[in-house]
Amino acid sequence: MRIHEPFPGVLAFYEGRDGSRHAEGPNWVDDGALSLGIASYAVIKGDQALVYDCHLSPDRARFIRDTLAARGAKRFTVILSHWHIDHVAGTEPFADCEIIANPRTLAHLTREKAALETGTYAGQPAISPLILPNRIFDDRLVLDLGGEVVELLTFDIHSDDGTVVWLPKRRLLLAGDTLEDCVTWVSEPEALPRHLPELARLAGLGATAILPNHGAEEVIAKGGYGPGLISATSAYVTGLIAGTLSPDLATAIAEPVKAGDLRFFAAYQDVHARNLAKAAEAKAAGHLT
Ligand SMILES: [Zn+2]
Repeated sequence: MRIHEPFPGVLAFYEGRDGSRHAEGPNWVDDGALSLGIASYAVIKGDQALVYDCHLSPDRARFIRDTLAARGAKRFTVILSHWHIDHVAGTEPFADCEIIANPRTLAHLTREKAALETGTYAGQPAISPLILPNRIFDDRLVLDLGGEVVELLTFDIHSDDGTVVWLPKRRLLLAGDTLEDCVTWVSEPEALPRHLPELARLAGLGATAILPNHGAEEVIAKGGYGPGLISATSAYVTGLIAGTLSPDLATAIAEPVKAGDLRFFAAYQDVHARNLAKAAEAKAAGHLT
């Protein structure tokens, strides 16, 4: 795992997108997480640390906690971006901490807890134990991180239970999976029409820097993406709904790549193909009208 500090006290814990694999044979850690690259984040001030997602396994999460402790953190607050497996696998080393999520994240995790813990949800490795969130908010929660306002805001983008972290003073957005470079991973295709007004609401925050959980390492390391990542995502979702996107990813995202809003990454071709199939299915079922 590589550690970057794109802004003072904002740490990115990045792994993957470099061809490395953690195990032989198909498994969810390699296929989808490390293959695309994944970052989780922490914001540290004095002895307080906010941990935004806890990575792919307890040992990785322990490394994150130890890294923050070595920098002086004594109080850890975990914030879950959403309930998907690659974001909640490392909850165990934070079992003694406040773990904040919205009620939909809690409901999804509660529903799938047994399957996640036995490895029947997405296969091995199982997440055992999965620690459920213990502080629940909805819409907006304002935290005080050593005098700096940090807002948690809920969005229905990518999944119905998105929580983003917004640092208004720095105009910095930690976006979870609401935004992704190269393209959003469609997990709730029938919800795509709802994502567009939600993306507009997200753009309305006025972020000047955006750190997504899946993106290009060099961009994240140097301070993240601009607001063009949101407009590129909106254009892609609009294309998915309309059925107008080229099946070739490089063609489909040529414009935002040329504009510098996205970086082309070949592993997303499979994600794109899967997205197109899911959108077509939802359209056939009458969900995208
Ligand atoms: Zn993810």
